[in-house]
This record gives sequence, C-alpha cells and structure tokens, in this order.
Amino acid sequence: MEEVDVVIIGAGAAGLAAAKVLRATGRSFRVIEAMDRIGGRAWTTSTDFGVPFDIGCAWLHAADRNPFFPEAQAAGWTLYHHDMGLDHLWFGNRPASADEMARMQAADATLNAALAAHAGAEDRLSALIGDCHCLRANSTFAGQMDFGADDDEISIADFRNAADLDPNYFTKEGFGALIHRWGADVPVTLSTPVRRIRWDGPGVVAETPAGSLRAKVALVTVSTGVMQFEDLSFFPALPDSHLAAIFDLQMGLLTKIPVTLSGTRLGLRAFDDLLIERPARHDLFFLCFPFDLDLMVGFVGGDFAWEIEAAGPAAAVDFVTDRLADLFGSDVRRHVGHGIMTNWGGERWTRGAYAAARPGRAEARAVLARPVGDRIWFAGEALAQGLMQTAAGARLSGEAAARAISAALPAL
Ligand SMILES: Cc1cc2nc3c(=O)[nH]c(=O)nc-3n(C[C@H](O)[C@H](O)[C@H](O)COP(=O)(O)OP(=O)(O)OC[C@H]3O[C@@H](n4cnc5c(N)ncnc54)[C@H](O)[C@@H]3O)c2cc1C
Repeated sequence: MEEVDVVIIGAGAAGLAAAKVLRATGRSFRVIEAMDRIGGRAWTTSTDFGVPFDIGCAWLHAADRNPFFPEAQAAGWTLYHHDMGLDHLWFGNRPASADEMARMQAADATLNAALAAHAGAEDRLSALIGDCHCLRANSTFAGQMDFGADDDEISIADFRNAADLDPNYFTKEGFGALIHRWGADVPVTLSTPVRRIRWDGPGVVAETPAGSLRAKVALVTVSTGVMQFEDLSFFPALPDSHLAAIFDLQMGLLTKIPVTLSGTRLGLRAFDDLLIERPARHDLFFLCFPFDLDLMVGFVGGDFAWEIEAAGPAAAVDFVTDRLADLFGSDVRRHVGHGIMTNWGGERWTRGAYAAARPGRAEARAVLARPVGDRIWFAGEALAQGLMQTAAGARLSGEAAARAISAALPAL
C-alpha cells in the first residue's frame, strides 16, 4: 500500500490549494477526486451557449483580497466590476415606483444596522427582517439569492460573520476556467471516489474502488452535503461534536436558469440586476445580458431552488420564460431560445451549492475546523471564515489547513 504524508480528498479550490502548499513545503501527498475533472463547484462550460458559462462560481468576490483576482488580471481575463445592487425591482408584473425603490434602498441600510445591533436569543434572519420592517426584496436578495437559504433557515450570527464581498468582478472567460487553469499543474487521481476513511490504526487509510492509500493525515475538502449523505464515511465514526457540526452546516442551493434572448434588449442594459418580488409566490432574479451576450441568467435560491431542480430543466426554463412574458408581454416568447438549468442539488459529489449554518448553530463552522485525532483535517468553503461560501474562501481555507498540517507533521 502506497504511503504519503497527506491524502487530500477532493480537487476543488480547497484541495488544489492545499496540494500546492504541501508541494512547496516538501510534503508528499495524493489528491483523490471523485469526478472526472478538477474544479468541483468551479466549472465553466462552453457547450451550452457557444461561449463560456459558469455553471458554478462566477463572481470574483472581495477582489481586493481574493488571490484569484490578480491571477485573472495576469492571465488576461476580461473582468467587469459588478457589485450587486438592484437596478430593477418588479412586484409581480409591475415595476416598483421610484418611491418603492427608494424605500428598498433605505431598507438595505436598516437591515445592515439591525444585523450589527442584534443581540437577542432569536437567531433566525426572518425574525430580524420582520422586526425592522424591511421590504421583502432585501431579504430575498441577501438570503435566497445570496446565502442559498430561506430567511427562516439562516442564522443571524452566521450571516453576520460573512464578510462584505465588495468589490465583485465578473469574467467573460469564466471563473471556473480560471481555477482549472490555476490547478492544472497539480497531479490528481480523477474518477476515484474515496468511500471511507479508516483511522482505527496509526495514520489513516483512504479506501476507494481502485484500492486503498495509507497516509499520515487526511485532509477532507468535500462539501458537508457529501458527508451528510455518507458518500464519504469514517471508521470509526467521527466524534459526535463533528457529526453534529456537519449536519448543522446544511447545504443551501442556488440554481441558475440561463436562457438565450435574441433580437431584443427589453429596455435593459448589460449587467442590469432585475429582481421579481412576488409576494406569497416564488421570487426570481435576473442578471441581464452579461458582456452584452444574448443571455438572461435567471437565479432562484433556497427552498424553491430545491423544488425547481426536482421538477427538472424543462419546468425551470418554462418558469423563467413565463415570468419574462409576465413582465414584458407574450411577444418575448419568440425571442427566447435555448435554456438550461444548473443542478448542484442533484450532483452526488456536492449535494447542494454551499453550506449555511442552522439558526442557533453558527459555531458549527469552528467545531468542524478542529482536526480529529490529530489526523483528520477539514477545509473548504464551509470553513472559510469571512469568505465562507466563496471559491476564494475555499482556496484560503485549503492553504491554511495545509500549512497547519505541515507544521504538525514531524520536521523534515
Ligand atoms: C451555483 C453556484 C454559484 C456560485 N457562485 C459563486 C460565485 O459567484 N463566487 C464564488 O466565489 N463562489 C461561488 N460559489 C461557491 C464556490 O463555487 C464554492 O464555494 C467553491 O468552489 C467550493 O470549493 P471547495 O474546494 O470547498 O469544494 P468543491 O469545489 O466542492 O470541491 C470538493 C471536491 O471534492 C470532490 N468529492 C466529493 N466527494 C468526494 C469523495 N467521496 N471522494 C473524492 N472526491 C470527492 C468533489 O467532486 C469536488 O471536486 C457558487 C457555487 C454554486 C454551486
């Protein structure tokens, strides 16, 4: 049985980053990846629309401290500064009035102030939003469309710990393609799921259908969803503290439903943000015509995202097309062409988009970040502190874990 210092499970941003640090510190490692490609939730395709489209991460958040940002510049990627802010808000099929837009903008500041001041035992974001009478649009934007969860499933403490992600940049060539390019020099064993990590003897043994690998330490970078479904299990089981943390870091979901829209711009400009706020019904967000492409990118998040992914791509594209017709008239239908739906909820090796702590359980992230038995370590977007849920955060988390592992191993 081959033996290395560290077996890294997963070749997403966290696993690739950890491998680069271990290589630089002279440690031996193997990266084992279930999928037939690297990148994980960072994945750009060009087959759907004939241009790069990010199925997973798309915005380079917090560009002033995002290590991918200078690399994108150096690689000559086309970058567009795009901080979220609602350019267009519709209530059902009517545009918000100027007064309503102003109230929504003001409510944004109110929500931020209420978050900063919140001290009570109540930890559900929905309660805070009720208290400060914010317009629902703000919470939809911040909750479902950003955190990937409904307000009653978001912990105020967890939400507050998430850093302000401005400035944000969008790339024409694709964030997933950038991460693929950055990670391409890391040797990875693809199409090889680790089924179980044994730690009942010295070190660890990673069991895969292709055989077992012994290592001093395992670094686990798979999503909490994968561990909840026991697509990666442990023997003996992890301590209760860690099992509870994994289940308290529920996977949220964000689903993209891009459709081509040609021959019209509907009075919208490239990169406009449009939210359709539909009281008592499902909300929908559009990123309009990015880079002036003939593309309206619909987004749904939270519970409705799980429902629409279960309903399938045809239902999702119908939903988006019907809402466009509600807003702009049925003539819009003849401009709509091909559409797709991303399906991270159905993806066995992620089981959702990114993790959000249950109300009352914000400390789960810190618990899961503690190594088990000095030989099972965790990293990834769920443990990325202020940059939680982001690709940059996953990378920084992988780098930090690899540095800590290297320091904990016997000196070279
Ligand atoms: C729809 C969507 C939109 C997003 N938008 C943005 C955005 O705009 N900006 C941003 O910064 N972030 C965004 N994110 C989040 C970002 O993509 C993730 O936070 C980041 O890519 C996660 O990296 P990771 O290394 O933690 O996990 P992953 O990328 O999930 O990597 C883990 C790897 O482990 C593999 N794996 C799983 N189980 C096993 C196993 N048993 N054995 C071996 N390998 C296994 C997986 O296949 C995967 O490759 C978005 C995510 C989604 C889904």
